[in-house]
Amino acid sequence: MKKTQLTTTGGNPIADNQNSLTAGSRGPLLMQDYQLIEKLAHQNRERIPERTVHAKGSAAYGVFTVTQDITRYTKAGLFAKVGRKTDCLLRFSTVAGERGAADAERDVRGFAIKFYTDEGNWDMVGNNTPVFFVRDPYKFPDFIHTQKRHPKSNLRSNTAAWDFWSLSPESLHQVTILMSDRGLPRTLRHMNGYGSHTYSFINAKNERYWVKFHFKTLQGIQYLTNEEAEAIVAKDRESQQRDLFGAIERKEFPKWRFCVQIMPELEAETYRWHPFDVTKVWPHKDYPLIEVGVLELNRNPENYFAEVEQSAFSPSNIVPGIGFSPDKMLQARIFSYADAHRYRLGTHYEMLPVNRPKSPVNTYHADGPMRYDVPKGTDAYYEPNSFGGPVPDACFDEPPLKVSGDADRYDHNDGNDNYTQPGNLFRLMTPDQQERLFRNTAAAMDGVPEAIVQRQLVHFHKADPQYAAGVAKAVGVKNRAAGE
Ligand code: NDP
Repeated sequence: MKKTQLTTTGGNPIADNQNSLTAGSRGPLLMQDYQLIEKLAHQNRERIPERTVHAKGSAAYGVFTVTQDITRYTKAGLFAKVGRKTDCLLRFSTVAGERGAADAERDVRGFAIKFYTDEGNWDMVGNNTPVFFVRDPYKFPDFIHTQKRHPKSNLRSNTAAWDFWSLSPESLHQVTILMSDRGLPRTLRHMNGYGSHTYSFINAKNERYWVKFHFKTLQGIQYLTNEEAEAIVAKDRESQQRDLFGAIERKEFPKWRFCVQIMPELEAETYRWHPFDVTKVWPHKDYPLIEVGVLELNRNPENYFAEVEQSAFSPSNIVPGIGFSPDKMLQARIFSYADAHRYRLGTHYEMLPVNRPKSPVNTYHADGPMRYDVPKGTDAYYEPNSFGGPVPDACFDEPPLKVSGDADRYDHNDGNDNYTQPGNLFRLMTPDQQERLFRNTAAAMDGVPEAIVQRQLVHFHKADPQYAAGVAKAVGVKNRAAGE
């Protein structure tokens, strides 16, 4: 086999990569050993800042295939024909753990898909839960602080988590899911994904519908008990990465059925649940799931750093036919995700191979550190210009969205029912599932002062008295919410 010549980053052949240049065999080193210095300096720069949240991730490439016609709702090209295929990248992640954290932990899982469409990238940056802990992004950094480490002890704090949740009743729905079986999936293949937020669809007649996205696992839902997870973590911190990578190497390609729920635009004004509140779902009997297609993962990335660590997903990447909604959390994420990548990866992060759209990109952005492409010489480097530069097209205008109201800071919990939907979820669990919910909740409350536990029991009680009773018993405290 012909050997490949080792070179410097400048392409110069290297004669020796094992022995530093020294004065005599005992040293000292010589300063002119530029390749020794280059290797050490490069090593110092091998890491980039990890994501503040969703730092630990696993990803794979795949294909999305349309199986049902939904063109009456959206003109998005990727849905234009039954049978149409679109290449994708799906990155899964835990939320709170750092890059080296164990996989088999109770946590929400990120479920972020990049669809490389003919009309640019569509990033569906969701989770494995249909709701979220907070509905106002003003509270988001505080919430994340409670999931991270205590500033003095450098330990995760159950007290901080339950203090915040018990003072933020809108979190109850997501907390219930997190403490249920769904909060600790057996593998990344055995869980659903959700867009969580409400988005919009725009059809060819420029009519708007509100839409929710669901990815239902075709592997079936499977979970781990806390005890099973502890045994796994003791032996393997990378269990979910290992499972996903191995399944794809064995050609056991995981699949998800992609479905949508559709709400005509004007129904949002009268629907009994606030459709832009990310702590709420749309019950299926009101808005049934409509199948759209199947997503299959079938290829592992070649290089974890280049293709997974450097992958950048942002809900700001949408295509014509898909739009945003007035969901406040979504609006904040549209800004903050792209901003996180500018900081983490740099100004030109969307030109990195994994992020680069497969369709043409024509912008007037100029320069900045690490520009990876070489734009052709042109006089059209500003807009408007007379030299044939790219121009916008009004055909991509969305229909106007009616907004009204006085500018103020409105109490988002005022008159908002935080309890019925978590109660409905609790009531659809079997007695066994409820029992595990109680035990998981009690385990997560370990070391939390009783006053905080009692404050949280009031929320459980309002969702369903049996919920509070079960948790109180599992924790081993009186259920003051029930007057004990
Ligand atoms: P349905 O009976 O029509 O749907 C219940 C849904 O709950 C199913 O999608 C099921 O997912 C899911 N589910 C079951 N167990 C859990 C769990 N432990 N954690 C999270 N999801 C679970 O009832 P509704 O549509 O009226 O919803 C009732 C409650 O179900 C809601 O209040 C909400 O908490 C929860 N839910 C609703 C969703 C929705 O979009 N309507 C989506 C997910 C949850 P699967 O079919 O995959 O097993």
